[in-house]
Amino acid sequence: MTTERTPQTFVILGANGDLSSRLLLPGIGSLVESGQFTDLHLVGCDRQELTADEWKATLDGSLEEAGIDPEVRQKLASTTSYEQADVTKAADLARLLEDHGGSLVLYFALPPAVTITACQELSKLAVPPGTRLALEKPFGQDARTAAEFNELLAGMLPESQIHRVDHFLGLATVLNIVGLRFANRTIEPLLNNHHVASVEIVWDEDLALEGRGGYYDHAGALVDMIQSHLLQVLGFLTMEAPSAIEARDIRDGTARILRATSIWNDDPARFSRRARYSAGQIGDRQLPSYRDEEGVDPSRETETFAEIVVGIATWRWAGVPFRLRSGKALGNPRKEAIINFRPPEHLPVGLSGMRRPDRFRIGLGFGADKLRVDLTVNGPGDPWSLDPATLEADLGPGSLSEYAEVLKGILNDDPTLSVRGDAAVECWRIIDPVRRAWDADEVPLLEYPAGSRGPSGWPEAGLPG
Ligand code: NDP
Repeated sequence: MTTERTPQTFVILGANGDLSSRLLLPGIGSLVESGQFTDLHLVGCDRQELTADEWKATLDGSLEEAGIDPEVRQKLASTTSYEQADVTKAADLARLLEDHGGSLVLYFALPPAVTITACQELSKLAVPPGTRLALEKPFGQDARTAAEFNELLAGMLPESQIHRVDHFLGLATVLNIVGLRFANRTIEPLLNNHHVASVEIVWDEDLALEGRGGYYDHAGALVDMIQSHLLQVLGFLTMEAPSAIEARDIRDGTARILRATSIWNDDPARFSRRARYSAGQIGDRQLPSYRDEEGVDPSRETETFAEIVVGIATWRWAGVPFRLRSGKALGNPRKEAIINFRPPEHLPVGLSGMRRPDRFRIGLGFGADKLRVDLTVNGPGDPWSLDPATLEADLGPGSLSEYAEVLKGILNDDPTLSVRGDAAVECWRIIDPVRRAWDADEVPLLEYPAGSRGPSGWPEAGLPG
């Protein structure tokens, strides 16, 4: 890993927004709290006029909310500054660059369309050579626009200095997959089409819109979750063993998988599903129908629950269906990757009662989660009667939040946990046929009551194998 270099200037463009206050500022706070980047000069930049004291109060409020140590809050507040700028204006961007020379990170925490315009304007200026650009998802709107955006960025800085952020890559539970797969002789040899029947990557949550209807209604579950996060998890779960935990090895590995991935049988009408929630209850929360949520235009027909089945055309994985699924406002939240093994080649005659083949369930939640291995054993009583048994281990939380982990990579000039340009395009290429099938109404938009398990008939149906 590269070593920390100081001092650095970290500019958040869109510093008054939701991402900045809920995730970026706390991420920076926890990095500094852990003793890293203690000389960081944090600059908030947004189009709103704020005094230095108002910005400090915003920063402090967000750090306090995240439980950051008062001494760290004080330290960051004593060095931070604020700049009002409209980042779609070249003159404002030029002033920012002039004011903050040296080792610079520009973090685009802006609406996606504003980010693209800001980069177009930035490309007309002389960006200092060591500058790193951090770009939030969604990166582009489809494979074509993502490729065009890549081209624009390539004209400005080397790829290693472009950090396309996917905070799932900073999740300790996702990074655990690497240790689990490549540090265990008993696991890795089984992960191929000889032994695996199917794989599911599921991110079902009980959260609904949480005030972000205006954003979500333009994205939907397919783009918000599957196009970015779950396809990145797929890459970690299926890539070949890297020789080292280094940017090139890891990113070559996941990009190769994504290049080989496509919708099962190239049939998006059959191997994708979509639905949205109707009014219902989760615990003591009453939820309105999605179509009645603030910021939602029902005629857009945005889905809150999406599922696709993909295949990976490699020697190792050909023939294994991978189901990627994510839904909101569900009554049975679960976040996990499940590897379903094939049944045993032969069950000795006389052994009875086998209920299901083995499976690994890898928890993917934020913070700590569990690894569960479901096996079949001789149960109590009649020794020839089989029973299910589960081995369980804790997957510990990381010492840093997922955003802090990603920010650390950016500040260390290490793109291992950033999405490479070609991989970003591949993720759109994989889902673009699904969006076309949905736009052409080839897949019905079903409904499920909030708090339910999803539309009836889901989730088991539709998985080939
Ligand atoms: P917000 O709309 O909350 O924040 C964006 C900020 O950018 C606002 O303060 C906005 O000001 C400001 N802004 C808009 N235009 C300009 C401009 N021309 N010049 C300077 N500032 C401008 O969005 P989010 O924080 O929610 O999202 C930011 C990015 O992060 C998006 O790409 C989103 O997809 C991504 N993201 C967000 C997550 C979240 O949980 N919020 C999670 C993961 C990714 P104003 O209010 O005046 O418009």
